[in-house]
Amino acid sequence: MSFKDLGLSPALLNALDAAGYTEPTPIQAGAIPIALSGRDVLGIAQTGTGKTASFTLPLIERLSKGRAKARMPRSLIITPTRELAAQVAENFEKYAANTKLTMALLIGGVAFGPQEAVLNRGADVVVATPGRLLDQFERGKILLADVQVMVVDEADRMLDMGFIPDIERIFSLVPPRRQTLFFSATMPKEIQRLVERFLNNPERVEVSRPATTATTVRQTLVRVKDRTPGAKRDALRTALDRDGVKNGIIFCNRKRDVDVVARSLQKHGFSAAPIHGDLDQSTRTATLDKFKTGEVRFLVASDVAARGLDIPAVSHVFNYDIPHHADDYVHRIGRTGRAGLQGEAVSLAGPEDGKSLAAIEALIGSKIELADFGKAKPKPEPEPEAKKAVDAPEAPKSADAPQSESKPADDKGRRKRGGRSRKKPDTTPESQEKSSREDKSSRNDRDNGKILGFGNDVPAFFHNS
Ligand code: ADP
Ligand code: MG
Repeated sequence: MSFKDLGLSPALLNALDAAGYTEPTPIQAGAIPIALSGRDVLGIAQTGTGKTASFTLPLIERLSKGRAKARMPRSLIITPTRELAAQVAENFEKYAANTKLTMALLIGGVAFGPQEAVLNRGADVVVATPGRLLDQFERGKILLADVQVMVVDEADRMLDMGFIPDIERIFSLVPPRRQTLFFSATMPKEIQRLVERFLNNPERVEVSRPATTATTVRQTLVRVKDRTPGAKRDALRTALDRDGVKNGIIFCNRKRDVDVVARSLQKHGFSAAPIHGDLDQSTRTATLDKFKTGEVRFLVASDVAARGLDIPAVSHVFNYDIPHHADDYVHRIGRTGRAGLQGEAVSLAGPEDGKSLAAIEALIGSKIELADFGKAKPKPEPEPEAKKAVDAPEAPKSADAPQSESKPADDKGRRKRGGRSRKKPDTTPESQEKSSREDKSSRNDRDNGKILGFGNDVPAFFHNS
């Protein structure tokens, strides 16, 4: 299957060639022909599957026939975070290199003026976060009456961040006769309702089950029994300081911990920098660039700041905290093991994380292996032979591995419906009871030193401690 088979024009095929893409990813192969036919698309795919091109390419194809008008964009791409919007914009410029299409990026945290200037000159495509788009609309700087294609990216994240009312408002402002391309990694009820209300007989394209973890990511768990932050940071350093750890993203549940952990790592001589929603846009962009070029080796991040960031070749993800929402775990570890590369995700679990962990294991449909890297002497961890074979990049991916059969039915009360609050309140510890109804007993078994899930083949390194 090639991009040519999907019905794309030579201008786009050349741009894709220049980008080094040889063949479409499954979501691209599924969504592009439908989008080109003019139908609405409901795309369900996890992070790193190539969603951006699946909506950007047909969008470019469709718009290449008309002309931009001042303040009246012909298409709208809405993403939940500034970084994602910036990334989509970057992709758009790459793919649209051989066209005359113009684009405006409307995100918060930067001045209104330059955005207005671009809008006034006429933008074919507006890439925006919901808040800034509505702000510009209310200021009369943008009219949505000519939008022919509306794209919603990462809809489930919009829900988490309290953006659903904004999205509904935006849907009400664009013409009813338009094409909608709608993407989400998971389909909680609220999102399903949006789809039913605002999409017109969409074709559903689902490339893998929602919320499954990539098979190229090896997942391990480090137990930190001591409740002090010092002990946790100590455990983190041990996990970082091993062979094979090239670079990584370290996730914290709270913004203030992002800063504390980054500073502590710097003090211990690690190359690390924080990224979270309270940092201004230029700092976030600069940090991200340094991470991409390798100048910064470890990015310490909150979920919101890191969501959907496209950072190639991250060897490791570290969960300094176990996320309270199981979906976040899947998104976090989706930062590694991309494009067939082998990755590793190491999670630090404290005594208080039992419920969150149980919810995660229920969602991914398996237990996370325990690992003990040894405190004093960081060493490469032994890898069981069988595991190696499964994870080898050339091994066929088991698309239907027994992963998400047990997707928990807990989407109900768990999500935030935050009115117009535009930030995920990641400073507030979220209530844990909601996220799990799960099996205390099996968790306790592990606490007692019995390791489940391996039958008689428990790898030797589990018995180190
Ligand atoms: P998603 O939005 O699903 O998380 P992205 O659109 O950000 O995924 O794509 C993930 C990465 O894969 C990006 O680095 C992108 O450039 C790359 N990519 C996308 N499509 C292809 C393709 N057809 N061939 C090679 N690389 C691709
Ligand atoms: Mg994306």
